[in-house]
Amino acid sequence: MAVSAAEARFLDSISLDAPWSLVEAFSTMPRWRPEDVNAGADHIASVLTRLGVPVTVHEPEIYLSIPLQAEVRVGGETYRAKPPSMSISAPAGIEGGLVHLETDPNTYRSYTRDPAEIFAGEGGDVRARVKGKVVVMAGFANPGSCSLLEEWGARAVIAVNPGVDIHWGTCTTIWGSPDLDDLPRKPAIAVVAVNNPDGQKIIAAARDGESATVVTEMMEGWYRQKIPVVDIPGAVEPQRFVLLHGHYDSWDVGVGDNATGDATMLELARVLWARRGELRRSVRIAWWPGHSTGRYAGSTWFADAFATDLAENCVAQIDCDSPGCRWATSYHQTTCMTEAQPHVARAIEDVTGQKPKFKRPNQAGDYSFNNIGLSSYYMLSSTMPDDLRAEKNYYAVSGCGGNIAWHTENDTLEIADRRILETDIRIYLLSVLRHANAEILPVDWRETVAEFKTTLAAYEAATADHADLTPARTALDALSERLAELYRGIEAGRVEPGVANDALMRLARVLVPINFTREPRFRHDPAYTVPPLPSLAVAAELARIDASRLGFAKTQLLRGQNRFVAALREAERIAAAALHPAPA
Ligand SMILES: [Zn+2]
Repeated sequence: MAVSAAEARFLDSISLDAPWSLVEAFSTMPRWRPEDVNAGADHIASVLTRLGVPVTVHEPEIYLSIPLQAEVRVGGETYRAKPPSMSISAPAGIEGGLVHLETDPNTYRSYTRDPAEIFAGEGGDVRARVKGKVVVMAGFANPGSCSLLEEWGARAVIAVNPGVDIHWGTCTTIWGSPDLDDLPRKPAIAVVAVNNPDGQKIIAAARDGESATVVTEMMEGWYRQKIPVVDIPGAVEPQRFVLLHGHYDSWDVGVGDNATGDATMLELARVLWARRGELRRSVRIAWWPGHSTGRYAGSTWFADAFATDLAENCVAQIDCDSPGCRWATSYHQTTCMTEAQPHVARAIEDVTGQKPKFKRPNQAGDYSFNNIGLSSYYMLSSTMPDDLRAEKNYYAVSGCGGNIAWHTENDTLEIADRRILETDIRIYLLSVLRHANAEILPVDWRETVAEFKTTLAAYEAATADHADLTPARTALDALSERLAELYRGIEAGRVEPGVANDALMRLARVLVPINFTREPRFRHDPAYTVPPLPSLAVAAELARIDASRLGFAKTQLLRGQNRFVAALREAERIAAAALHPAPA
């Protein structure tokens, strides 16, 4: 599909003036202390107003944990450290014997909570070794590993980052502001990150049986934070909307993560507002606080506060994080849910000529809408090519287009690239525009069902005859047939577009949660990895599980399969009803 003349008019309106000015302004504005975050929102709102784009600013109270300072003392030495958001504040220091745990470098960046994956290098019983200890381990201070170590009785965790810089981050598994049910998971240990050279000295001290004192100082509580939102009304179906969003709070001045994203959204707001008469559906654009210090508390508040509207009217959520970064000319790790892949691939190809490769969305970023069930794409879009990353000897990071300045004080103006930013603005604009204007929503659930078949086949192979997944397989085959029929009907014009779109949206409300969540609708899953089709995932453990736990695992799978089958049958009924609507 080539860019149409109507689409070209939008793309040709793009200018770098407003977006680059925002990147430059934000490059001198740290945006992580609550008052500085609000100043960032005021800046975005004032630019929008100057551009003639109406903006609403919400001011919810959200729960934040802001790192102030940290250090690690071992013997006579004091090492520089950064506490991740949501570590406890321990200004007097927490002391304990050091224990070093081997970790798998491939899980540095992952959000797994599987001890077999995190501590793959450790043969023995890790759990018994950490009780009452200060654990030092290579990696980032991730919620999965930190929550496990806390559960096992560790007193503190020192994460040894892979390079000479120390990365900020967050260590809580709680998604957004905690509610009463979440509170028991609030971290209760001190966590810090140190750089690699210092970390190696601390690891050596652990081998010598020394002790360490971990000092952290945090500022924690409820803070009023601003959320600027632009609502661009569609001319035909104004109640239906595309949600484009990204965070404007950052670690320090955060240029590549995420001033470039804020600039992208600003330019889309300007261009789409100016040509709003040419939009079928509405586009809502939101800039979040609380991403870095509140574990996505801004987007989570929005998901909670507007849950019903999102559930009934949002056709897709599109996350804008870290576009337009230096050297990030490749689209081989683009975040995208399966049903949207054909649509996103066309947009990227039409702008760049490249065929993208896609990644399943992590349980991370501002993907705060999975439990409502929204089709979703991006978060990370462009990144540097693998050979360039290898040439630079860069380790993997989760933003800034692969630049290791990510989450450090080095994420400054040099990380942004004008030309790449312009390309990414075009990609985002074309994706949003097509999603807002397509007569039939650009989501292909047949692709998702094909993904489910692959997932299910892997789980079936792994059950080692301990379980029967035939009911899941039968339900999946039936849905597959029904969807084929539905899309044939849509393509032949036998299904009225309004009816078709209602069905495609309702399918998202069923098929997204079954693939990305364990918690019910309108709650939020914890911030660690959710495997594909999570209610069936225990099947993968059956072959290697301890005999004493096999019965429990099989019970869990039986219940999980019921959830899966019920969801697929509901999806089948949605498709069937669209094909054969009841007479009015
Ligand atoms: Zn980010």
